[in-house]
Amino acid sequence: EQERLRSLADLPAVTLDGVTVELAANIGTPQEAAGLLAKGAEAVGLYRTEFLFMGTGAMPSEEEQYRAYREAAAAMQGHAVVIRTLDIGGDKELPYLDLPKEMNPFLGYRAIRLCLDRRELLLTQLRAMIRAGAHGTVKIMFPMISGMEEWRAAKELYEEARTQLAAEGAEIPAFMEVGVMIEVPSAALLADRLAREVDFFSIGTNDLVQYTVAVDRMNEKVAYLYDYFHPAVIGLIKTVIDAAARHGKWTGMCGSMAGDPSAAPLLLGLGLNEWSMASGSLHRVKAAVRGLNQTQCKAFAAKLLELDTAAEIRQALANFQQS
Ligand code: PEP
Ligand code: MG
Repeated sequence: EQERLRSLADLPAVTLDGVTVELAANIGTPQEAAGLLAKGAEAVGLYRTEFLFMGTGAMPSEEEQYRAYREAAAAMQGHAVVIRTLDIGGDKELPYLDLPKEMNPFLGYRAIRLCLDRRELLLTQLRAMIRAGAHGTVKIMFPMISGMEEWRAAKELYEEARTQLAAEGAEIPAFMEVGVMIEVPSAALLADRLAREVDFFSIGTNDLVQYTVAVDRMNEKVAYLYDYFHPAVIGLIKTVIDAAARHGKWTGMCGSMAGDPSAAPLLLGLGLNEWSMASGSLHRVKAAVRGLNQTQCKAFAAKLLELDTAAEIRQALANFQQS
């Protein structure tokens, strides 16, 4: 069995009826990018940059960040690397930022909210990412976007970073894709408007579930309610993928649902384009995708969307048989 899974690394993630999806990996350090192509990942779908900021007693300089992002981009040899801007706050602290204690940190001063308030921090990070883009295919992604203002403010800062670098004569790519994570329900509900302006979406189910069902993802007392098969979550995922498709944009998923092979018939049926997961899940998800027929999965997904509970959806997925 292990042998069979390993030999899958070189095969494409293509369905029985010839639909190709992109399987990508989540990383937290540039070193993790090194072995990914050999493991069958075609891209990095989420590079969490928090570790770069958490490992030290001070803010990493533009140069340090540039070196880290460039290393990841180079390791992927032209394959895409989606780098997420700093997602600090919530459960992750940075001593040197001197963040105030909050009653509801997950609803508070976090991620893009903090970065748009501390513009220099975000501008420095964006400059490092854009410079790294000259050494591979870097895509930039903003976390925790809740509406159009935040997206536009972040995009404007990206443009400002480009203008600065160009004026300095730095080597920068002519074009980079810039997208947003969809992990706040308001963003999912505005997906049609966001899709006009962004280059891509990546659905963060870890937070999207927490915010949609109002369940603290760290609280064990209410963990039984935390489920990405919740029908409301599935409905939002469909909304997002459909909106992107209408505007010719692609949708990825980088939350843990993407790494669950039992979710594959549903996600394939909804039309998800890119699946990004812990590298240990790549083989199992690829095996699942290669055994599926998208036309049948579409019909099946339409039926799943009518079910009333997460338990029913899970059960239907477990019983799913292709003809
Ligand atoms: C998510 O929320 O699904 C996600 C991928 O981001 P993180 O787990 O880093 O919050
Ligand atoms: Mg998240």
